[in-house]
Amino acid sequence: MTSPPPLPEGFTLPDLLRRPLPEVRALQDRLLARTVELCYDGHPFYGRRMRAEGLRPEHIRSCEDLTRLPPTSKEDFLDDPEAFILRHPDLAADERTLWKIMYTSGSTSGVPAPIHITTRDHYSYVWACTRREDLVDIRPDDVIASLFPLTQFPMGAYARAPDEAAAVGAGIIFGRTGRPGGVFPVQQSLDETVAHVARHGATVLWGVASFVRRVLIRAHELGEDFSRVRMSMITGEATSPAMRADMRRRMRDLGCTDDLIVNRYGSTEQGSSMVECTEGSGFHSLAPDQVFHEVLDPESGARLADGVHGALAFTHLIKRGTLLLRYLVGDVVAIDHAACPHCGRTSPRVASDLTRAGDMVKVRGMLVNLRGLKDWLEERPEVTEYQIVLRPEDPADPFSMDALVLRLAMEFGDETTERLLADAIAERMHLRPRIERVSRDSIFDPLISPKPQRLIDERCRPDGPRQA
Ligand SMILES: [Zn+2]
Repeated sequence: MTSPPPLPEGFTLPDLLRRPLPEVRALQDRLLARTVELCYDGHPFYGRRMRAEGLRPEHIRSCEDLTRLPPTSKEDFLDDPEAFILRHPDLAADERTLWKIMYTSGSTSGVPAPIHITTRDHYSYVWACTRREDLVDIRPDDVIASLFPLTQFPMGAYARAPDEAAAVGAGIIFGRTGRPGGVFPVQQSLDETVAHVARHGATVLWGVASFVRRVLIRAHELGEDFSRVRMSMITGEATSPAMRADMRRRMRDLGCTDDLIVNRYGSTEQGSSMVECTEGSGFHSLAPDQVFHEVLDPESGARLADGVHGALAFTHLIKRGTLLLRYLVGDVVAIDHAACPHCGRTSPRVASDLTRAGDMVKVRGMLVNLRGLKDWLEERPEVTEYQIVLRPEDPADPFSMDALVLRLAMEFGDETTERLLADAIAERMHLRPRIERVSRDSIFDPLISPKPQRLIDERCRPDGPRQA
């Protein structure tokens, strides 16, 4: 038996994101039950795991039952990515055929893991792209500038941008930046990319948020014509409202047609991405018929109620190739299944104020959320890039008091500006920073790394209480 068609009779596409939750859940349950059956006999990792837990397919017939299965960590997956590929004799040809492979980013071991995309998966992705209404408002007459770097391992975003353009019938050009120095010198410089965007009159910029911002800055400096740009789609890192406001201002300064920012959230592992309908609305799931989302207690793995912050996990409902169930993404979010107050859609939203665990640090014994400092810096028009460095005051004595160093690349300003910045930060942090003026590329060189590292902790010791 091959897999059933994803949508039941009478379930039309445009309202998929607006159906009452029980209807969507019934659909998810049906799709999940079939996927679990296939996993039991055809998925090395989940077949093993279900048997180890004493679970048979009839024990997991619904998203509710899914809580019986322990969550999957990123380490589980990275340990043996091949064990996550579904290989079942009942699969139809398009469910088995490998369409392409892309790689995860951000693994701790430094080796990205391959994600297998079958023909079925590719088609389901393209299909999801065609039915997203104005949540991702790419139009047939758009020219998309894909600003994702050309990397050693093909990353999901780079590989999927052409699929989205194709789905909608839009044109697409490629920035092709990336770390130079390989056997074939195919990477372009930032300036070449900026000129390329202008030459083609691109209307949509799409890339990692910090990089899109750098493209806007450089375009302004070079006086390139970005007047046809109407939208920036940003992804790949959490951005603050302040940073998005900064980007909108830069789009206006450049004379762009519009200053729309579409904030996307997703991962190569997940497949379909999530999008805000309005600034701060939370990221809507764009494909509740393909992915089920839940939020878990990071300690116990128990499913948490709406509005409670915990670890985001997703489950593939119809994915073939690399298939993940209850996969922990690594972000802390809260989920909301209520109809969206902005657009009325019922597709679940995850709160877009993603708290990164790394923002909470101890400085001089006090727990500080650096998000506040980051937001504040991102609101400063004179600051183009920043990096927060924590180090011992006396480099020779690792137990000396913490020192806060702020590495700043500034568009304008003199010593007085620096002093005023330091005063303001001292007031906020109760710790006076030493300000180092540096070049913006020494903080974030877009040809070398895909995104900037905002915090460097050089204290080399556990962040716990110190012995007196
Ligand atoms: Zn909405």
